[in-house]
Amino acid sequence: MREAVSGQLKIVGVRQNWLEEKAMGYKKYIGKAVDIGLDLIYPRNIHCILCGDGIEKTEKYSMCTPCRDRVKFITFHFCEKCGKPLEPLYLPQKCPDCMIVSHHFTRGFSCVEYDDTVKKLIYPLKYHQKRYLAHPIGQMMTDRLRKTDLGEIHMIVPVPLHRKKERERGFNQSEIIGKYVADALGIPMEKKNILRIKETETQNQLNREERRENLRDAFQVVDYKKFAGKKILIIDDIYTTGSTMDACCKEIRKAEPEEIYFITFATGKNL
Ligand SMILES: [Zn+2]
Ligand SMILES: [Zn+2]
Repeated sequence: MREAVSGQLKIVGVRQNWLEEKAMGYKKYIGKAVDIGLDLIYPRNIHCILCGDGIEKTEKYSMCTPCRDRVKFITFHFCEKCGKPLEPLYLPQKCPDCMIVSHHFTRGFSCVEYDDTVKKLIYPLKYHQKRYLAHPIGQMMTDRLRKTDLGEIHMIVPVPLHRKKERERGFNQSEIIGKYVADALGIPMEKKNILRIKETETQNQLNREERRENLRDAFQVVDYKKFAGKKILIIDDIYTTGSTMDACCKEIRKAEPEEIYFITFATGKNL
């Protein structure tokens, strides 16, 4: 009798799990539909993506002028290696960090300085499913790239997320930003040839050495031949100490590409 009851409970339990999974699936589906809807109606210069005010169609990056003026674009006096902004009175061409660290990339750029204003663009994209923000972010990065002298780029490679994290988030923000940039510049995007094979803890609280250790062997190239002899542009949302970028580039470097450049949307000062 007891066995029969526990058997029944087991079946009920399985059924409940199945229903929950179904419900989750629908939720995801509805979320996606809303998201696509927003992607169609929200971002195309109707409302400012920072303050929500109505804007003219001609406003750049879906921002009203006062909000856009608050964003600190990095246009000159930046580190020639990693692209971090430099203080006005700081004379060397490299930031203090790049003077002592030898990076695995050729050089990199960022669009904007990370601050509370820029956080309002990155945070909702990454953590609140506001995928439509990838469009103006991608536009800003495309414009930044057009001002560089990198020449021909053979492929764009977004920094991958671990598959578990991507499943939880539902997408990889670097990949959707990368798609806008790749489409705008007519460069192929290669998103399957490098994987993040190690789950890493959040890096925010870690110092440089801990970050480096945390990211050791975190990336794996699938087919080295695909990267060999190529000029590769890595894309990510943010560059802080460069540990993630370096770990990713170190693995790609094994494929002997011609150059590895990167562009991130935001970066912080390190002096
Ligand atoms: Zn605004
Ligand atoms: Zn630097």
